[in-house]
Amino acid sequence: MKVPFLDMIKATASVRKELDGAYDRVLNAGQFILGAEVSSFETAWAKMVGARHCIGVGNGLDALHLILKAYEIGEGAEVIVPSNTYIATHLAITYAGAVAVPVEPDEATFNLDPALIEAAITPRTRAIMPVHLHGRAAAMREIREIAAAKGLKVIEDAAQAHGAKVGSASVGAIGDAAGWSFYPGKNLGALGDAGGVTTNDDAIADRVRLLRNYGSRAKYFNEVQGYNSRLDPLQAAFLSAKLPFLDGWIRERQAIAERYNAGLKNVAGLTLPPLTPAAECVWHLYVVRHAERDALQRHLSDCGVETLIHYPVPPHLSGAFQSEGWKKGQFPIAERIADTVLSIPLYPGMTDDVVSHVVESIKSFKGGR
Ligand SMILES: *Cc1c(COP(=O)(O)O)cnc(C)c1O
Repeated sequence: MKVPFLDMIKATASVRKELDGAYDRVLNAGQFILGAEVSSFETAWAKMVGARHCIGVGNGLDALHLILKAYEIGEGAEVIVPSNTYIATHLAITYAGAVAVPVEPDEATFNLDPALIEAAITPRTRAIMPVHLHGRAAAMREIREIAAAKGLKVIEDAAQAHGAKVGSASVGAIGDAAGWSFYPGKNLGALGDAGGVTTNDDAIADRVRLLRNYGSRAKYFNEVQGYNSRLDPLQAAFLSAKLPFLDGWIRERQAIAERYNAGLKNVAGLTLPPLTPAAECVWHLYVVRHAERDALQRHLSDCGVETLIHYPVPPHLSGAFQSEGWKKGQFPIAERIADTVLSIPLYPGMTDDVVSHVVESIKSFKGGR
């Protein structure tokens, strides 16, 4: 049996009729920059998240970057960010000219450890940028309390957590603003690059809207030096077509995760993801840990099971940030995570026998060779 990490062909085929309809609508409308398709998805996504505003942008990295620009967080400012996130979170900060200050995660949840945040705050700190990694909501109550006490903004990197909740609130509506990615492999993915910003802050929404479109409200009248980072109407239409399925896909992901939790408990040497309250995790990734991760990955590959490592190199050791002068050993939890994590296949449409094959393949791993 061959198990891909993610089957984009099947995922696309399952909503082919809706996607074809969206494509036809855009071609018939002849509006290829902004316009009704973009505003209509923005309205739908804002509603889904429970935020007052959504602004469609080019991708997830731009979403985070434009939020920082909108808050005028740049030169001389510091932003607290997890040490173990995808590099985009860090790049958004350096793009804006600010300094990324990595803080280690809670090793049990992979998310920013609130107990370590205060020690990283300086007079230059302007914001905390929690990431809901793997689809699991970060400790937003604690983070918001610290931010409120210190006068900091909370900017959520919600790129992996479409639909995750804390209590009755959706991620993306809990902080001051949130950046979303609709990269094809995300839980809600376009057929190319796409992103969005959600916020309840009217002024920031207005500012991001301005910045994504050359700094102009009226064509050829540029109020500020903006960017070209607009959500493409075709991608907006594809996203609108897929959105009604998102809740069902999330429930499927949660059911598969439960099967993994049950099937893989008590496997010697294997650490499973934490048992988070169901609504708080939408399982963008199912990440296990093993001391012999590389051997386990080879074994699974021999069994026909494709796995990935999210992420093999933490940002502080990345070639991209060599100039920051960070050292190996400086963020040991992030390094330990990078050395031991393995993401196993989890996607809507995964059948029970495929899940069982992954479980049995992991159980048949004999380490120590
Ligand atoms: C995917 C992702 C991003 C960036 O999204 P793009 O659309 O690829 O730019 C940012 N942060 C995290 C945590 C992500 O997983």
